[in-house]
Amino acid sequence: MAMIRKVSSTKRFRVRYGRSNRDKLAAVEELHRGWHKCPYCSKEAVKRESAGIWKCYKCDAVFAGRAYSMAKRKTAAELLISEEQYEALAKETAAEVEAPEEETAPAKEA
Ligand SMILES: [Zn+2]
Repeated sequence: MAMIRKVSSTKRFRVRYGRSNRDKLAAVEELHRGWHKCPYCSKEAVKRESAGIWKCYKCDAVFAGRAYSMAKRKTAAELLISEEQYEALAKETAAEVEAPEEETAPAKEA
């Protein structure tokens, strides 16, 4: 059975520069090439103009982002804890906010 192989953007280098270096570059190029979702008009019409500069070809918005991706930098809190931990913490705090109301409700009835 034939193996399906994804064509990498680093195919142009053929066997040169080493596998891991080509893989790293391919991951970066996958981030910045192609169309991205516009934060202003929500259409996938944003392309990278140059390092850190992104342009929407629908609404002509030009804005700053990261050099190779449009994504915003993570906050310090997000960097310290993982997403699962963050969601668990958010659920705990939500439960703490809701819990006192449940406890006081029967007291009012009695
Ligand atoms: Zn736009």
